[in-house]
Amino acid sequence: LSTQEEAMLEGLNDRQREAVIHDEGPIAVFAGPGSGKTTVLTRRVRILLHRGVPPERLMVVTFTRAAAYEMRERLEKEETSRLWMGTFHSLFLRLLREGGVFIPTLLREGEVYQWFRKWLKEREIPADDETIHHFMGAISYCKGNLVPPERLQVKKEKNQTLKEAYQAYEAMKRERGNWDYDDILIAFHRHLSRECNHRLRRGFDHVLVDEFQDVNRVQFESLRLLVPPDGNLFVVGDDDQSIYGFRGSDPRLMLHMDESFPHCRRVVLAVNHRSAEPIVQAGQRLIRHNRLRQAKTLVGTGREGVLLKWIEPADEEEEARRIIHCLSDGVETAVLYRTSTQSRALVDALVREGISFSASRSDASFYRRWQVRDLLSYLALAENPDDLDALVRIVNKPKRYLYGDTWMDEVWNLSRKNGDLLTALPRLPGLKTYQKQALSRFQKQIQAIRGMSATEALEWVRGSMGYDRFLESMAQAGGQDAASWKETVDECVLAAASHETPGAFLAHAAKVAEVVEQIPKKPAIRLMTLHKAKGLEFDRVFLIGLHAMVIPHRRSLQVSEAQKNAAWEEERRLLYVGITRARHELVLSVSQTRQGKRVGPSPFLKELGYSLEEAQPANKRLASGVQHRFHDQPQAPFAGETVSVGDQFHHVKWGMGTVTKVQPMTGSAPGRKITLRLGERSFDLHYELSRQLK
Ligand code: ATP
Ligand code: MG
Repeated sequence: LSTQEEAMLEGLNDRQREAVIHDEGPIAVFAGPGSGKTTVLTRRVRILLHRGVPPERLMVVTFTRAAAYEMRERLEKEETSRLWMGTFHSLFLRLLREGGVFIPTLLREGEVYQWFRKWLKEREIPADDETIHHFMGAISYCKGNLVPPERLQVKKEKNQTLKEAYQAYEAMKRERGNWDYDDILIAFHRHLSRECNHRLRRGFDHVLVDEFQDVNRVQFESLRLLVPPDGNLFVVGDDDQSIYGFRGSDPRLMLHMDESFPHCRRVVLAVNHRSAEPIVQAGQRLIRHNRLRQAKTLVGTGREGVLLKWIEPADEEEEARRIIHCLSDGVETAVLYRTSTQSRALVDALVREGISFSASRSDASFYRRWQVRDLLSYLALAENPDDLDALVRIVNKPKRYLYGDTWMDEVWNLSRKNGDLLTALPRLPGLKTYQKQALSRFQKQIQAIRGMSATEALEWVRGSMGYDRFLESMAQAGGQDAASWKETVDECVLAAASHETPGAFLAHAAKVAEVVEQIPKKPAIRLMTLHKAKGLEFDRVFLIGLHAMVIPHRRSLQVSEAQKNAAWEEERRLLYVGITRARHELVLSVSQTRQGKRVGPSPFLKELGYSLEEAQPANKRLASGVQHRFHDQPQAPFAGETVSVGDQFHHVKWGMGTVTKVQPMTGSAPGRKITLRLGERSFDLHYELSRQLK
């Protein structure tokens, strides 16, 4: 090696060097988080360039645009301009263009979104953000696996709607002559596999792929067409961090590389350079419970972390306060969570305190969700009976038999002569008796809100005014998950609890919406979902809301028996990704209540609990608290699978208790829900019996 090359390898360990200077032929680096995969890939690009590989014959694939951007930062400017670097989508698009393939106009994500919205609305399926994204995601999954609509197998009624949507969507694009982003991959694969377009092949000397565990079938098949079996393919990945299964990514493609690239060399990096020892250990103890994985060793560098901490705040508000309290030391901090609803309390607190934060818009815009906007509209109409927008939004939620839209003008005109919109409503001309009754009732119920506290008002709307029942019937009609909608509504009630009046709550919601619009350049704290954190690292990481039914998520457990294990393991990988983002300090937070209800900890925490004690002798009290918490969950009396009402058990913290109810989990989730009574208290625990009650 030249001295210049030596300089480029500086600081790398032997295995990393080996991978960077690998000579010819396919090579796969499979290694755990923080082991330097991205580092190795970047250095290899530099060495290749240095050795005279023309930049235009190098293709570097990253998983996100942000990752491509970061990699450009790590390389030197002049080198990167001619390099083929980016996501699969951006690279394939460019190749198609240069190969002379006609590219139809691409639908922007917003347009696709709007199309689905309209399609769903026409079928009277609630077109909320979550549902629309569900449809878009599921169709993208099919396309990623090269499954066209006609080959989509459906059993459940819910999926029949999906199939119809998929067909209609593809037909719409054909008619309009548009493509979506997935069509880029499909078209590239199609053109390449026909072998008629040699220009597409282009002859890259080297193809390098980061986060290889998340490639889907169409991407993998395209790579196979692009690189011959003995070609220079350099991939890095970690099957333990595959978290995009719902989009069609499949780590088996990575694990079975040899089938397509028989002489593929394997390099394993075994040292995690990112995280302090206790954090590395915690990650390992968790992930080894996955069975569908390639076993690999990963050791830390022995560096002591600041701490691996455990906190058990009383509720989400206290959790937020404790996080904010930590910020005063200026350490780079990120807060990660499973679902975006979980950021609500923290975002509220940050806005109140005037602390700058960054979060993706969808995570932070809780107050823009349709259910929340409905509820706020009820309050707004009570505050101001002339609020036409609010009235239009909620008058038929639930149905109050006001059809068409001419009533809007009529009620407006009527109200100008005499009073406000709300009082004019039941006086509309030509109403049938049942309409009149429904509308007078509506009017009185809204008026009754005046003088209530914000939470009283919301409970009133949900119960007496029938909003909860409305949600249920909508969910049922559309085959949607009512529980997740209710969760949003519960969260809204909780948010309202810190405000005296409905007016104060409305003002706060408006302020949050405004702050969320502005994204600060250098935020004091970063908020994101576990999914978005992949590949990133932070000095201090908080993982919040580690409850049962949150992680693993309730929805991921409502799958068929055959898929259950896989779903469970993907959730564990997600938590693993979260844990391994931390450099020096990791704080695991499990509040004692969630949305005002007592909830049990995530079943994964037991797997982590052990590491707490060993990794953290200095923090023994806390650690042993955690141990008790788990160890003393039903043991002896619950041995085997027979838990029955009346069983006694001893809980170290709360004393003797009795089982009062045993129910199966909802859907096809594994385990059971056990209700325990301890003196005055009563709470639910979730058990995956086979795992925990050995
Ligand atoms: P992930 O799986 O999370 O994407 P990764 O394997 O890509 O992780 P990197 O991001 O490349 O890991 O590296 C993690 C951290 O370790 C980075 O801050 C990197 O600079 C540092 N690092 C990598 N290799 C070494 C080394 N040999 N000595 C010291 N630090 C290193
Ligand atoms: Mg990486």
